[in-house]
Amino acid sequence: MEKKEYDAVVLGGGLAGLMAANNVADAGFKVAVVSKVFPTRSHSAAAEGGIAAYVDGNSDPNDDPEFMSYDEVKGGDYLVDQNAAELLSRDSGEIVHILDTWGAPFNRQPDGRIALRYFGGQTYPRTRFVADKTGMALLHTLFQHATGFDNIDFYNEYYVLDIVKDGNNVNGLVAMEMKTMDPIFLKSRALLIASGGLGMIYQHTTNSYINTGDGYGIALRSGVPLKDPEFVQFHPTGLYPSDILISEAARAEGGILKNNKGERFMAKYAPHKFDLAPRDIVSRSMTIEMREGRGFEGGYLGLDLTHLGREYILERLTLAYDAAKTFANVDATKEMIPVRPAQHYFMGGIDVDITGVNSDLNGLFAAGEAACVSVHGANRLGSNSLLETLVYGKETGKTMVDFLKKHKNVESSDGVDTIVDNAYSYIKRETGEHFGTLLNELRDVMWENVGIFRDEKKLTEAVKQINSIRKRSINMYVTDKTTNYNTEVFNALETRNMIDCSIVMATAALNRTETRGAHFRDDYPTRDDDNWMKHSIAYLNGDAVEIKYKPVIVTKWKPEPRVY
Ligand SMILES: Cc1cc2nc3c(=O)[nH]c(=O)nc-3n(C[C@H](O)[C@H](O)[C@H](O)COP(=O)(O)OP(=O)(O)OC[C@H]3O[C@@H](n4cnc5c(N)ncnc54)[C@H](O)[C@@H]3O)c2cc1C
Repeated sequence: MEKKEYDAVVLGGGLAGLMAANNVADAGFKVAVVSKVFPTRSHSAAAEGGIAAYVDGNSDPNDDPEFMSYDEVKGGDYLVDQNAAELLSRDSGEIVHILDTWGAPFNRQPDGRIALRYFGGQTYPRTRFVADKTGMALLHTLFQHATGFDNIDFYNEYYVLDIVKDGNNVNGLVAMEMKTMDPIFLKSRALLIASGGLGMIYQHTTNSYINTGDGYGIALRSGVPLKDPEFVQFHPTGLYPSDILISEAARAEGGILKNNKGERFMAKYAPHKFDLAPRDIVSRSMTIEMREGRGFEGGYLGLDLTHLGREYILERLTLAYDAAKTFANVDATKEMIPVRPAQHYFMGGIDVDITGVNSDLNGLFAAGEAACVSVHGANRLGSNSLLETLVYGKETGKTMVDFLKKHKNVESSDGVDTIVDNAYSYIKRETGEHFGTLLNELRDVMWENVGIFRDEKKLTEAVKQINSIRKRSINMYVTDKTTNYNTEVFNALETRNMIDCSIVMATAALNRTETRGAHFRDDYPTRDDDNWMKHSIAYLNGDAVEIKYKPVIVTKWKPEPRVY
């Protein structure tokens, strides 16, 4: 098997991975960036609405980083580690400055300063944007910067299988070149997991097909826990019926949600913030409207932009307009866009501290959506994820540099062959369960039972069904036996990761007997700070999910009722 040696390997070529890689390479270390798609096709490219930031001299005169942190803490329903939120806000202006100097083409105000718009849950407008294609612009900016380093090697279209460990130390990872199916051992003493989210485990999601929770599965198999895996964000405006995202920018620019009676129903649920209440509240309100018979036939509501005028829509919301036209045959300048909630973001993630370090495996770091720092707590505010990928991508890069200065690569190559044999077993097996059957069942269970509204009965059933799917997946096989870009094998490997994530998420959701942020329990409808103001830390030990707890870090803001 081919073997290459690096100081650090970065799993993921999205914004978080590239930001960290830039920082580690800048300190002179040799870095490999591995991505199953060409880096600029990572899901970061799909981000539309923008990136939140407090920029000195270029913000609302009443705003400051402390207000921004407060909004994050309240938005996250007090499960946020407040020191992490403070760092996110404090460094946000610097990140925008870096992006600006690296060439990101931000929309501007007439006086040349960077433009800003309101996003859900913000006291003052802070979201910076490049029309409604912000992620695409930022990802290209970072990728271009990274290609300037000759000490970064890109492994594009390589699928990462598992972490190689030496005792309790990271010893790199094993990946497979997708074109040839040849394995490669990328040896390193530091490993950053920046593998993005897991939307594909839900029947309805705004995420790309590549968001299959690989990094979480890989971490769990190495004995590394997920923090707060019960917290999943459902975005209010997935386009009906494809679930393609209609960005929150549409409501930020004045779009209004309406039911089948033409009522602006959010006035009832969030009398101050209306359509721009945080996403958990809007998604729940929409579901209630539809449950009570005020949705349109088929199961959707209307997003009305018509009053904004054609010119404004085409200038500021081109992507929303195009998506509605192409995928729902609706002209958003004349008719309402049909929308319904869809899975959007995973607040949980690999348990790391504020410096990006995981304390279960030496040399393991995580950043971006793959990580839980935790800055989003029980519910992420819109436009804070792009910010997190960059602030914590940078911060984690710095920590990795310190680590690399103090440690040397280990010698062994143990465990590498088993990882490869496991992957090839799907090709070798002639009969069994097809990944497609298992995945469809899993996506249904997660949507129906671990979705927007949860209760003990649904969650107990979910745990039972996912356990059964997990047992059956031992015999997973693929029909395509070729060794040339065998996408079926990669889909099977992704399914393995999705099943492992799901069992941890469902068990943690059953365990948390309260309602907080996006975790809404019909049977425990209130927040219970006495018993539950703590993080779930969930390990997967063989067939058992083991949950421990960590305290929430509170610096300034005591929990208050969360009203908008
Ligand atoms: C449609 C949409 C719109 C959004 N809009 C916004 C917005 O406006 N503002 C905002 O703040 N947030 C937004 N978000 C959220 C935000 O875009 C993401 O959370 C963020 O970009 C994630 O970045 P990341 O670097 O962590 O991961 P990603 O950009 O998802 O990158 C993950 C990387 O990991 C690689 N990878 C994964 N598994 C493997 C494997 N097994 N082997 C090899 N490589 C692997 C992938 O190839 C990819 O390069 C949006 C999300 C979606 C889905």
